[in-house]
Amino acid sequence: MTDALAAGTILSVRDLKTWFVTRRVTAKAVDGVTFDLRRGETLAVVGESGSGKSVTSLSIMGLLSRPGQIAGGKILFRDRAERLHDLASFAPKDFRKVRGKEIAMIFQEPMTSLNPLYTVGDQIGEMIALHEPIGRQAARQRALAMLKHVEIPDAASRLDDYPHQMSGGMRQRVMIAMALACKPSLLIADEPTTALDVTIQAQILDLLRRLQAEMGMSILFITHNLGVVAEIAHNVVVMYAGRVVEQAPVNDLFAHQRHPYTRGLLACTP
Ligand code: ADP
Ligand code: MG
Repeated sequence: MTDALAAGTILSVRDLKTWFVTRRVTAKAVDGVTFDLRRGETLAVVGESGSGKSVTSLSIMGLLSRPGQIAGGKILFRDRAERLHDLASFAPKDFRKVRGKEIAMIFQEPMTSLNPLYTVGDQIGEMIALHEPIGRQAARQRALAMLKHVEIPDAASRLDDYPHQMSGGMRQRVMIAMALACKPSLLIADEPTTALDVTIQAQILDLLRRLQAEMGMSILFITHNLGVVAEIAHNVVVMYAGRVVEQAPVNDLFAHQRHPYTRGLLACTP
């Protein structure tokens, strides 16, 4: 397998295997996943619960829990200076080079990702300070600009809110502000709207679409909701039991499915 990446490809996951070994039992959570994400596009990853979507994204971010290990394959990522990295062979400390500045991630439940004891302004400011030398006041100004950017109403008065003082939708906006504060070129979103009600979900998708157009970032969007896929993605990967069973442009997938699992998934979608 060559390490060459096609022009315009930012991420190429190739035959990725991520296994969990507990008490000599090996669970092959991800067992040969291959897909490509082109710069500036949104690639949706769909699949039922337990199909390996989150483990794939945690492998890319280097966030696997202790028994999890990459047992094979490559995760080729092209950074903004056009350098090529194989994230599958990164040591934990190597991820400092890319996390936040090059690749950021948002999760399903922002309450578990935000620190309840710090204001949202402090948390966004701290994120920025991790990546560049910046004074307290300047970090605060940048945090405020980010809150405005993610359309938090009356942002100046929310800067000193604690996470619990915000609604779920607003907390997810704060998570997006934190993720994008250092202008990553790739955003991984693991079911970011699943915990939100439908109207708020639509607003967050609108926001991500707008930010993508403005910032030109690529998005790997994990979801089990095909309605969301139709809204936001250009291409889609379908996972089943730790493997990719198809990858296609969204319209092609809705018109024609090759794998029985995908047919079943579409049949259940209103
Ligand atoms: P999903 O597609 O719902 O995001 P996951 O990627 O979370 O699925 O999980 C894929 C498989 O990996 C599941 O069978 C899950 O039980 C297993 N798994 C995930 N995390 C761990 C872990 N920390 N230890 C052991 N098994 C895990
Ligand atoms: Mg998951």
